[in-house]
Amino acid sequence: MIEVKNLTKRYSGGRPAVKDISFKIDKGEIVGFLGPNGAGKSTTMNILTDYLSATSGSVRIGGFDVLQQPNKAKAKIGFLPEQPPLYIDMTVEEYLNFVFELKKVRLDRARHIEEVCRLVKIEEVYRRVIRNLSKGYRQRVGIAQALIGNPEVLILDEPTVGLDPKQIVEIRSLIKRLGKDHTVILSSHILSEIQAVCERIIIISNGSIVADDQTENLSKGFSENSHLTVQIEGDKEECLKALRGIDSVSEVTVTGQKDENIFEYYIETKKNADRRREVFGCAVKNRFVILAMQDSSMTLEEIFMKLTSTAAVSTDKTQKTKPGKEG
Ligand code: ADP
Ligand code: MG
Repeated sequence: MIEVKNLTKRYSGGRPAVKDISFKIDKGEIVGFLGPNGAGKSTTMNILTDYLSATSGSVRIGGFDVLQQPNKAKAKIGFLPEQPPLYIDMTVEEYLNFVFELKKVRLDRARHIEEVCRLVKIEEVYRRVIRNLSKGYRQRVGIAQALIGNPEVLILDEPTVGLDPKQIVEIRSLIKRLGKDHTVILSSHILSEIQAVCERIIIISNGSIVADDQTENLSKGFSENSHLTVQIEGDKEECLKALRGIDSVSEVTVTGQKDENIFEYYIETKKNADRRREVFGCAVKNRFVILAMQDSSMTLEEIFMKLTSTAAVSTDKTQKTKPGKEG
């Protein structure tokens, strides 16, 4: 559906804002474009939507080259730019009708606009002036504007920036719903945002793609070995021997003593696999009591920090990460 090849953008002299990036997005995917501020997300999205020209490289949308057949390519895209192009003195009704004409849509106007308003839940503000709407409603109007004309692809640049937590949850669930029958790319500098909505994450840092994988694979793939911290009641030497006897375990060290007969073990296992079941089975077999067990693999948040190690990275600390690291 979307094919980006060797895209580079240099604004003026200096180092490029986007450097030779390539990726493909299939029909129906919801992809998160994640990176710290200044990473090149908006630049890329503006090029995908033909708001901005690339210095080199190509973009195809639904088979059409954005440069060679811009109208055909653009007809397939609905775009919510970082600064939504709202005419704040218009009512929602006037604005959406205006966009309908601008895009030269050939659907039944009244029915189509009504359908879009229902989808993004703005029926109750339809006759109000955009200036007087809350930020959350304005963002919905921005998304409605992108949906006019039923484009197959939705490109949303930081769609939740500036919203309060309740509005964020609402917009997220709206995007998820839209993802059921659209191909969606959304950008954010907040990991939890992307994680909550997207099946696949492309991480961009300093204009380059540093990771591109399914959300779940990303967190697995980066730590070569996984680690478990286990608290076990039982004879220390016997425990060590039994744990070391597990095939997939590469190393066991005692990292603390909690009580006379209770020790904490740090278990390193081979290849990124979850070995909690094997450790549990071993304990049962040897009649040890497991009092606590934590998976200490790298969390996605730590991976993101590592990959984009610039000070500008923002990670939402309110998100629930896997138990383990620092609690
Ligand atoms: P993001 O959306 O990830 O925050 P941008 O694509 O907006 O990143 O910016 C990427 C880089 O390009 C930044 O270093 C930014 O300063 C630079 N940049 C963005 N827009 C312009 C512009 N119009 N002129 C010059 N430099 C720009
Ligand atoms: Mg941006």
